[in-house]
Amino acid sequence: MHVAVVGGGAVGVALARDLATDATVTLYEADTVAAGATGRAAGLCYDAFSDRRDARLAQRALSRFREADALTDCPYVWLARDTGEDRDARRASEIREQAALVRDRGVDVTTLDSDELGDRFPALVTDDVAVAAVAESAGYVDPERYTTEMAARARERGVDVREHTPVQLTADGDVATDDGVEQFDAVVVAAGAHTRAVVSAVAPIPVKPYRVQALVTESVDRDIPMVFDASGGYYLRPRDGGILVGDGTLPEEQEPDDWKRDADAWFRTDATGYQEAALGESWPDAQSWAGLCTATPDGDPLVGELRSGVYVATGWQGHGFMCAPAIAERLTAQVLGEEWSAFDPTRFAGDESFEIVEGMDVERR
Ligand SMILES: Cc1cc2nc3c(=O)[nH]c(=O)nc-3n(C[C@H](O)[C@H](O)[C@H](O)COP(=O)(O)OP(=O)(O)OC[C@H]3O[C@@H](n4cnc5c(N)ncnc54)[C@H](O)[C@@H]3O)c2cc1C
Repeated sequence: MHVAVVGGGAVGVALARDLATDATVTLYEADTVAAGATGRAAGLCYDAFSDRRDARLAQRALSRFREADALTDCPYVWLARDTGEDRDARRASEIREQAALVRDRGVDVTTLDSDELGDRFPALVTDDVAVAAVAESAGYVDPERYTTEMAARARERGVDVREHTPVQLTADGDVATDDGVEQFDAVVVAAGAHTRAVVSAVAPIPVKPYRVQALVTESVDRDIPMVFDASGGYYLRPRDGGILVGDGTLPEEQEPDDWKRDADAWFRTDATGYQEAALGESWPDAQSWAGLCTATPDGDPLVGELRSGVYVATGWQGHGFMCAPAIAERLTAQVLGEEWSAFDPTRFAGDESFEIVEGMDVERR
């Protein structure tokens, strides 16, 4: 069996590597490996999902990151603050309910009040925390390094990795490049924000790219866990001796070839406030950037067979990296003939109109 994989991000590379055990694989990448969202991702990885499918995938992905020696263990804290606003009171009760559900999924999660959180993580500002949940089996990965290493392993398994080779699918599902049209037994398109355009001649899919932002501070002498603050709408993790601060989500559809790669001034200002709210202090940023995530009408990804022999994998709502090795396994099995319909891309007509809702909000977990 000869399979084409389109897109050399975390998903496409992991898939090409897994498929190469049983198939001949050609991986097409328009730019270089990890040049898309993967190379801009924060690399937070956790399994604290209340949805059973999401939790299983994330648990499996964590195991695979550990097997590859790519994961730095670090607890994941998500919390809501007592701001006096109804929205935050709702968020606090959602976190309590979610933590109970997540525990039912077999995930090691504890719920802490502000004093308990402060005792456990003295670097955090906790006096206004209404509730926090802590997932123990979590950590972070360097997405670019991991994906580049996986691409090297894919090559060792015989995958023909063709960088600087943009692809468009023909109406027949064949692979068109500047060098001509090639036919394969199966084609999997994991082209991130470009997936909809790449498969447009085959079938429409409802995916919208949107911008998110992050920055890394200068070196900081603080020992922090990974944190998602549902009241503030931002997340933090240690990175390169500093602190990575992320969010700045803009729920507006972006053109995948025409968007602003730099972080906005307002985000960099807000990130100072986030650091002060979370850590009581802020630091100058050493680097900042933006990247594209992909949204779907129901917040679940589109993964699977779109039309006979043509598969897609996109619409991660900001969680694509942490699930990539597990999605790759499931998709590999499906391409090789197993049934799998968890995130069937044909559940939509493809022309739905919908609002972009960010994936990290507690209502979406
Ligand atoms: C700032 C930021 C922070 C994030 N933080 C996290 C996080 O902490 N945890 C997490 O799980 N996720 C996070 N994400 C989301 C994560 O980056 C994505 O969900 C994930 O990387 C998607 O991987 P992918 O392989 O599907 O897509 P991509 O990495 O976008 O890869 C798609 C590839 O396809 C290539 N391509 C495009 N068009 C074509 C074409 N026509 N022909 C051939 N190749 C093509 C692109 O060049 C690209 O390399 C974050 C994203 C951003 C931007």
